[in-house]
Amino acid sequence: MDALLASGRDDIPECQESDFRAAAGKFASGVTVVTTRNGCEVYGKTVSAFGSLSLDPLMVSVSIGRLSPLVAAILKAEVFAVSVLRHDQQQVSRHFSTRGNGRAIGAFPSVGTEKAVTGAPVISGCLSYFDCRLENVVGGGDHAIIIGRVAAAAGGDGKPLLYFDGDYREIRSTAPVAGVPAH
Ligand SMILES: Cc1cc2nc3c(=O)[nH]c(=O)nc-3n(C[C@H](O)[C@H](O)[C@H](O)COP(=O)(O)OP(=O)(O)OC[C@H]3O[C@@H](n4cnc5c(N)ncnc54)[C@H](O)[C@@H]3O)c2cc1C
Repeated sequence: MDALLASGRDDIPECQESDFRAAAGKFASGVTVVTTRNGCEVYGKTVSAFGSLSLDPLMVSVSIGRLSPLVAAILKAEVFAVSVLRHDQQQVSRHFSTRGNGRAIGAFPSVGTEKAVTGAPVISGCLSYFDCRLENVVGGGDHAIIIGRVAAAAGGDGKPLLYFDGDYREIRSTAPVAGVPAH
């Protein structure tokens, strides 16, 4: 899992971890659950490090702690799904960020799932999902950047669950900010 380009600029000092955490906490993100299925075992983890990576081909990326059993399971299954959580799915996020809840036999005990194309579990009632086959895995420090080729995706109406400054948030409205065109 080597990086494609390693910088030679080792004369530049590294940031303090506390400063890094303070800065990263100001990045508001959505909340996803990344899942896979290996035979009769299912795996899931709450992940905010998601990106819609490429349009041609259609690809997404997620960054997951490299020693997590979910990474090994995705490498074995070669498929995974990313479910974008709805504003009222905070409990689902808490479930999949709690130690011991990320692995189950057959089905997750308290969270309903459905199948799309690959067979990886998609969280029932999620705001949108991406069902993927594994394209590549790239090293990123203590995390693995998992890249998926999207086999199926869908998005519904509603508000997303957000995470900002160490806590869950909700947007009041999905209406655009008046007078400021996005593009
Ligand atoms: C809003 C939010 C966003 C999040 N975003 C992300 C994200 O983008 N990416 C991400 O990876 N996590 C993210 N997390 C954290 C993640 O959801 C889990 O809370 C975290 O990974 C701990 O889960 P775990 O230890 O039960 O599971 P796992 O990491 O699956 O580990 C299960 C077991 O494997 C072993 N293990 C795992 N790691 C190690 C290790 N380093 N050394 C030794 N043994 C190990 C341990 O026995 C551990 O109990 C997020 C959490 C929240 C709440």
